[in-house]
Amino acid sequence: MCRCKVKVVRWISWSVDNLGHRYFKCRNTQIGGLTARVFGAHDGGCDFFAWHDGLTSSFLREVLNDLRGVVHSLRREKAKSVKEIEEVRAKTKEQSKEVDSVRKKLASVLELASALDVKMLFLMIGSVG
Ligand SMILES: [Zn+2]
Repeated sequence: MCRCKVKVVRWISWSVDNLGHRYFKCRNTQIGGLTARVFGAHDGGCDFFAWHDGLTSSFLREVLNDLRGVVHSLRREKAKSVKEIEEVRAKTKEQSKEVDSVRKKLASVLELASALDVKMLFLMIGSVG
């Protein structure tokens, strides 16, 4: 509990110096823990701050740094894929509109053709009779 009488939230630091270092911070504060601690700054919440555990080993920091890089590149890839899917979807929509209009034209041509067939039939009957 912090001074706002709410349960504090546990965060994971992503700063280079404290990568992977977990800390508790007031849930109402949006400013990073260290910034809040150093400057006593807060926006809405109090300046409660506490580390959860000891410093992360340099090995773990390196691993986390690599993982962060992988996560970022996967996010970029995902965003790119989503954009590509949207483009394909838009194109497909456009093409299906074209197919629809061609289908309508074909239907009217077929109608015309069958009307001509009937006319021809009458003409043939007429010429026979
Ligand atoms: Zn608070």
